[in-house]
Amino acid sequence: MLSKEYIIKRFISYVTIDTESDPTSNTTPSTKKQWDLANKLAEELKAIGMSDVTIDDNAYIMATLPSNIDFDVPTIGFISHFDTSPDFTGANVKPQIHENYLGGDILLNKEENIVLSPNYFEDLRLYIGQTLITTDGTTLLGADDKAGICEIVSAMEYLIQHPEIKHGKIRVGFTPDEEIGRGAHKFDVKKFGADWAYTMDGSQIGELEYENFNAASAVVKVKGKIVHPGYAKDKLINSMYIATEFINSLPMLETPEHTDGYQGFFHLHDIEGHVEETKLQYIIRDHDKEHFEARKEMMQKLTNELNSQYQREVITIEIKDQYYNMKEKVEPVMHIVDIAEEAMKQLNIKPLIKAIRGGTDGSQLSYMGLPCPNIFAGGHNFHGRYEYVPVESMIKATEVICKIAELTALKK
Ligand SMILES: [Zn+2]
Repeated sequence: MLSKEYIIKRFISYVTIDTESDPTSNTTPSTKKQWDLANKLAEELKAIGMSDVTIDDNAYIMATLPSNIDFDVPTIGFISHFDTSPDFTGANVKPQIHENYLGGDILLNKEENIVLSPNYFEDLRLYIGQTLITTDGTTLLGADDKAGICEIVSAMEYLIQHPEIKHGKIRVGFTPDEEIGRGAHKFDVKKFGADWAYTMDGSQIGELEYENFNAASAVVKVKGKIVHPGYAKDKLINSMYIATEFINSLPMLETPEHTDGYQGFFHLHDIEGHVEETKLQYIIRDHDKEHFEARKEMMQKLTNELNSQYQREVITIEIKDQYYNMKEKVEPVMHIVDIAEEAMKQLNIKPLIKAIRGGTDGSQLSYMGLPCPNIFAGGHNFHGRYEYVPVESMIKATEVICKIAELTALKK
């Protein structure tokens, strides 16, 4: 349906523009350079014939593909982010194209001897015979999520050029700052005006996700008492020992390194301690709402117990919810997942439905009133030098978008 060359050209035109976001910035977008791609995308959407193309003061882009049928069907949306992760540099990306991948090692960088190997990244073997786009080993690629943008723009262009494919009204949204957790923050759900949407921000071909973690953070502060160690008997209280008691009282096997699938965890990610005060920083994650609440209660209870054990307030805890599992918002409208699954099946793509061990913009949007499952964009090894994307997966994702549009417009 779409030529490889065309997709490659569009994709490369996006990834060669640096759009790294910055968690330390308070502005939106968090970096000025995100405007470079944002402005280009707004122009491109106009050029391919989209209507109502808008770009707001925070660089959120929206556009419409009007319905081409004479009966009412739901308005659907497709969403991607144009920033790249601050985990690794996105400046001077030099994409390398490897046609007809044979299944062996790919030398990304001869000088630095950087190799992308299926012995380490087994997923590569899924793509034997395909065209892979990689980095030159010195930057990330930015397939997360410029592959998603490339697919959405290409699908809209295809639908515009093929009016024989019938569809309802389609909305497109591109956001800044997803990688620093703010992609959904200034997204105007009302202005977007879709009944539901899909983020094109997953990885491997076939991925379809509508479950993610419930997430909270916890800051535990333990207060001690410093006294000259030579005269400290029955007086000194070492906050680090009490903190250790706290740490060891939580289930030691419920940590990220001991869990997967639907298992939740407590993750101690930062500790800072002196005799006088010790600060512990945790994140709490669980797909199940009840288990999530129970985890928070367990920490609160442990705090209370230690306080009564020491007969004064030695510990304080501050727990803050971060985001919730979108399943709660998607399950009542499960047909939106079914349509995506059916689209994949009709295109001979095996749907891989699994729970995300993290969050997405879609989870926040779902709680803002826009149910929003996540679909594969095709890339692998995000946020680093080994990132790659098979062109065939990008083409399939583009076809999935068109097929979802078509299936949503079937006369009941
Ligand atoms: Zn992403």
